[in-house]
Amino acid sequence: MQELAVDLCVIGGGAAGLSATSLAAQLGARVVLVERADMGGECLNSGCVPSKALLAAAKAAHAMRSGARFGIAPVEPAVDFAAVRAHVRQVIDTIAPHDSVERFEGLGARVIRAEARFTGPRMIVAGEQRIRARRVVIAAGSGPATPKIPGLDTVRFFTNETIFGNETLPEHLLVVGGGPIGIEMAQAHRRLGSRVTVLDSGRVLPRDDPELAGRLLRLLAGEGVVFREHVEIVAASGCASGVALTVREHGRTSVIEGSHLLIAAGRKPRLASLDLGKAGVRFSDGGIVVDRKLRTSATGVFAIGDVVAGAPRFTHIAGYHAGIAVQNALLFPFAKTSYEALPWVTYCDPELAQVGASEADARRTHGDDVRVLTVEMTANDRAQTELATAGAVKLVAHRSGRVLGVSILDAHAGELAHVWGLAIRSGTTLKNIARSIAPYPTRSEANKAAAAEFYRPKLFSDLSRRMVRLFSHLA
Ligand SMILES: Cc1cc2nc3c(=O)[nH]c(=O)nc-3n(C[C@H](O)[C@H](O)[C@H](O)COP(=O)(O)OP(=O)(O)OC[C@H]3O[C@@H](n4cnc5c(N)ncnc54)[C@H](O)[C@@H]3O)c2cc1C
Repeated sequence: MQELAVDLCVIGGGAAGLSATSLAAQLGARVVLVERADMGGECLNSGCVPSKALLAAAKAAHAMRSGARFGIAPVEPAVDFAAVRAHVRQVIDTIAPHDSVERFEGLGARVIRAEARFTGPRMIVAGEQRIRARRVVIAAGSGPATPKIPGLDTVRFFTNETIFGNETLPEHLLVVGGGPIGIEMAQAHRRLGSRVTVLDSGRVLPRDDPELAGRLLRLLAGEGVVFREHVEIVAASGCASGVALTVREHGRTSVIEGSHLLIAAGRKPRLASLDLGKAGVRFSDGGIVVDRKLRTSATGVFAIGDVVAGAPRFTHIAGYHAGIAVQNALLFPFAKTSYEALPWVTYCDPELAQVGASEADARRTHGDDVRVLTVEMTANDRAQTELATAGAVKLVAHRSGRVLGVSILDAHAGELAHVWGLAIRSGTTLKNIARSIAPYPTRSEANKAAAAEFYRPKLFSDLSRRMVRLFSHLA
């Protein structure tokens, strides 16, 4: 076995590990990246990229059905699901070189394609290589969690790791789990022609603003997605049409049959192969325990991305963590995580975005100092031109004018969210957003309008009116 001494060993070549490797290599560190499966991890191969590519195909199909409002005769699209699957594969393949071994070796990193496990503090074995590292970053990610449903092991089901390889359009897709992954897949399959039923033990999209999430669900229901919230799945079994779920709902038991089943019921960290005990790294079922500097319980060992206990599981957080861990591992160890301006988006059509605190969280922290201002997309000319006015920008602000959080439902909510993250992060007050000039006609005007709404009572107060009357006498 060969021994390699490095400044930094990164375990996992997903979004988190690749970002850490790229930063460390460009800083001139001797860095080795160990990846046991496909480079790019979940995001590229079975997460963000294929899901958005499938949604894009679904949107094209939907546009063909819904042109009548614009005077375009609607037609039912002929969906070639194998070709849709090929489109998804093509998008992955096009992006893959950016995450490839060649690119990272070009940046100066050494890439080992093997499974990594600790043999001691900062000692790792990967294939035929023994690695002695001054610092280690664990970026092993998460995989789909399987709920405890009696009989589930006897039926065929998809997870995000397998559904994008499916080449046959499901006749009736049952989706267990109403989080962002389940909801995106539900809309994508419905628009491509499947019947879809979403089942959740609680509320669908529970972390999002209840009012805007409710509007989104009503739109999806209008497209034909069936939602069964607060159901307990008591059994899974095979049936003539594919799979049957026995559910208990409001005290009644019934059976729902589908042709295919997707389990999208949460994530679990990938810890089993790492032998973390040998490194002295503390972990729980939720992931690796870290402090705000992303340090684990073992000196010189950091954890980032989906593998971290309690951290938000998004690609942008993986990249954010990577910057903090690399700074703390290789430079001045002062960087700390803060999720105050965290954005997330469910990429349905329309998109549902959240940045920073929800109204409920803000009220818990700031009580009566919270102001909530909602601008409907019916008031936005661009949304009117596109007949896409069901959404809104809901701004949650402190009475001082500080932005606490924003929820947005709109076709471009993800893009609209960014400026609010910047405002929260930089402490920019609503005044700056209200005074900015947004190009006309854009959805961004709704952001500006929400900020302006905050100042409306002051601007159009009795005092202002009296002053205007006074000035009119002076002229
Ligand atoms: C369907 C779906 C859609 C999503 N959409 C979005 C989205 O739109 N936007 C967004 O921000 N996020 C999205 N996410 C979440 C996002 O994909 C993850 O947050 C992100 O991929 C996490 O990156 P990571 O590097 O921490 O983990 P991963 O991407 O899981 O990478 C971890 C890597 O570590 C490797 N590994 C594990 N153990 C070992 C070992 N012992 N030795 C060597 N290698 C090892 C794995 O093979 C894997 O490649 C989505 C997720 C899913 C499932």
